[in-house]
Amino acid sequence: MKFGGTSVGDQECIGRVVGILNHYHTAGDELCVVVSAMAGVTDQLHAIAAEIEGVRDDPPIDTFIASMRTRHGKVVQAVAPGESDAVMEVIDERLCNLKNILTAVYNLRELTPRSRDYIISFGERLSALIVSAALREAGVPSVALNGCEAGIRTTDRHGCAEVLPESGTHIKSRVVPLLAESVPVIMGYMGCTENGIVTTLGRSGSDYSAAIVGVAIDADEIWIWTDVDGVMTADPRVIEDARVLPDVSYHEAMELSFFGAKVLHPRCIEPAMQKSVPIRVKNTFNPEAPGSCLVDVSEPDHRVVKAITYIDKVSLINITGAQMVGQPGVARAIFSALGEFEVNVMMISQGSSEANISLIVDDEHLKAALAALNEVMQKGYIQEVEHDRNVVAVAVVGVGMAGTPGIAGRIFTALGREGINLMMLSQGSSEVNVSFVVKQADGQRAVRVLHDEFGLAEES
Ligand code: ASP
Ligand code: MG
Repeated sequence: MKFGGTSVGDQECIGRVVGILNHYHTAGDELCVVVSAMAGVTDQLHAIAAEIEGVRDDPPIDTFIASMRTRHGKVVQAVAPGESDAVMEVIDERLCNLKNILTAVYNLRELTPRSRDYIISFGERLSALIVSAALREAGVPSVALNGCEAGIRTTDRHGCAEVLPESGTHIKSRVVPLLAESVPVIMGYMGCTENGIVTTLGRSGSDYSAAIVGVAIDADEIWIWTDVDGVMTADPRVIEDARVLPDVSYHEAMELSFFGAKVLHPRCIEPAMQKSVPIRVKNTFNPEAPGSCLVDVSEPDHRVVKAITYIDKVSLINITGAQMVGQPGVARAIFSALGEFEVNVMMISQGSSEANISLIVDDEHLKAALAALNEVMQKGYIQEVEHDRNVVAVAVVGVGMAGTPGIAGRIFTALGREGINLMMLSQGSSEVNVSFVVKQADGQRAVRVLHDEFGLAEES
C-alpha cells in the first residue's frame, strides 16, 4: 500500500492511514507500505536547494530546518506520543545531515544533481519514520526502511532514475522476511546506485517505488492510496458529473496518466503490467469507496470511449520548410536536437505533404525546444518555427476504440457541431487514444461535449 503526500499531510491524515493499516493488519493481511513525503515538503526542499545555490548572504538554512522540525515534530507528538523523544532524536539527526548538505551547497554555490537528489529525498526520510512510529503506537509492529535499505537499486540518472532489474531480488530478500512479523514502511521516491549514492525517481515517483516493491515481493495487489476516489472519466473539477471507473486496463491507465490524469504516475504501471499485478486506486479520505482497479483486460463497455483528459500547460510548435519534403534526416535532426535539450515531446503529427511537423511540449520545455529548433534551423534543415502557448491537448481514451470504426467521426462531428476548431490531431496506431489540440478557450468545452457524446456520466 502506497500513501501519497496528501494522505500523510498532517496528524489527522496519518491517524487515518494508521486506522486503515491497522484494519487490514488485524484482518490477517500481510502489508508492506510505501510513503511519500508530507504534502508540500518535496516542493519546499526543491525550493530551498535552488535558493541557497543563488543567494549571496544570509542563507535561510536555519529557518528552513526549524520549520521542518516544527511541522514534523508536531505530528510526532500527536501520532506517536509514547516514543516521541526517541523519534525526535532520529529526526534531529536527519535534519542535521540536511543542514550540513544545504550548508555545503551554499558554501560552494553549487547544486549538483547528486546533491539535489540527496536533499529532496529528505521528505520521505522524515515521513516514513513518523508513519512507522505511529503504527507501533497503535500496536502494529513496524520498521522504517529507506529506499536503499529496501533494495531499490537505480541508474545514476539523478532526478529521474530508472530502477534496475536486479532490485527485484534485493527487495525480496530484504522486505519479505519482515512481513510475517511487522509492517515495513519504505521511503518512496528514493533509491540508490550500486555505489550507494542516493537517487530519486522523478516527481511523484513514490507510485513507481510502490509498483517496484509490490512486484518484487509478489504482492497480490498494489494499492495506491490517494485523495480521489479513483481513475475518473474526466477531471471532476471540469466535468462535475465525471464518474469513477471501476476498472481500467493498464494500457488505458497509461494513456490517461500520460495525458494529464494525475492519479497515477505513468512509470508505475509498466512493472505491474509485466507481472499482471492488479493496481487498486483508493481514497484515504473515503476508504469505503471501492476505487478503481487496473487490470490486464478491463470489462468491455459499449461506449468504447472510457475517459477524456486534458492538459492545459502545453504549447504547440509548428515547424515548416519546403526543404523537409522528401528529405531524409530532417526528422532525425529535429528530434535529436530536442532530445539533446532534454525536451519531452508529448504529441507529434506530420501531414503527408511533409511540409510541416507539429509538436506539443509542456510549457516548461518550450524555451529549450525553441533553442533546439533554432539550431536545426541554423543547419538549414527547417525554415520556420512558430509556437502558441494558448492551447490545450485533449485525449480521448479507450481500448475498445481499436478496430471500432466511426469513433473518430463521432468525436470530430461533435466538436464541429459546437464550433470547436481543431489545431492538430494525432492517433497512435495502437488506437487506444485519439488526441487533439484546441485553443485554450475551447478546452473545457471540448471535454464537456465529448463526455456527453459518449454518455460517460452514466453508470454502465
Ligand atoms: N514526494 C515526491 C514528490 O512530491 C514523491 C511523491 O510524492 O510521489 O514528488
Ligand atoms: Mg506526490
